[in-house]
Amino acid sequence: MPTKQLQKMSNKNTIYGICRICKEKKELTFEHIPPRSAFNKNSRFFVINSTEYYQNFEKYSTKKLKPKSKIEQGGLGEHCLCEDCNNFLGSNYVREYKKFAKIAMSIISTCQENTKCFELDISDINLLKFMKQVIAIFICTNKPVFTDSYPGLIEFIENPNSGNFPERYRVYMYLNNEGQVRNGTIHFTNTHGAICDFTNPPFGFVLSIDNPNRIKEVSEITNFKYYNKLKDIKKLLIMLNKYPSHYPFPLDFREINKKAAK
Ligand SMILES: [Zn+2]
Repeated sequence: MPTKQLQKMSNKNTIYGICRICKEKKELTFEHIPPRSAFNKNSRFFVINSTEYYQNFEKYSTKKLKPKSKIEQGGLGEHCLCEDCNNFLGSNYVREYKKFAKIAMSIISTCQENTKCFELDISDINLLKFMKQVIAIFICTNKPVFTDSYPGLIEFIENPNSGNFPERYRVYMYLNNEGQVRNGTIHFTNTHGAICDFTNPPFGFVLSIDNPNRIKEVSEITNFKYYNKLKDIKKLLIMLNKYPSHYPFPLDFREINKKAAK
């Protein structure tokens, strides 16, 4: 259908565009990223301009200046999926994500503030489905062109039972309940290559592309793709570090009042 016709059909609340999963031009629904039921109902979050942030970095890191930011409220999300794809995620993966988020949130909110490392029992969670929801988050937080370069990500989430996740991708996670939301868009870095970092309490996720080296600070969960083989193990545990995300850069876990030491 020609673009003009699509625009004509749309009203104020309707947005037409390319769905990030099926890649068809359709009416897009507002997708809560992460799911609304997983602590993304009323988050207050900051949108920071990173170019400006770099320019005044010294002042921000010593707290002489507060970062200029747009405060938004009401849950993170975007018009990124068509209704069918939105429902597909909802009926296949969202429940497992929510389950894990509840466990993590209850643990980090009841422990002592200075606890940095946690052991979580994840025996009851379908880790493959959880991982697929994490990949769906990265697909949604990036522009449609992202998966033109990395189509393996879409293929992985399309089939709920497939553990076929290409070797070039590695996924990591950490816990987070302090700092700002990181939006998960792709960054090209000198230390880790192409990387996406997404945080929204209680979690942070990192997607690393074409980097054979393991990122040590965060727990790798790429092997969740083998969950169909792991699920008969009676007890599954995961160790997760908790990091603040005060700075908008991927994998930057510095505390706010310690001056840029490294
Ligand atoms: Zn779609």
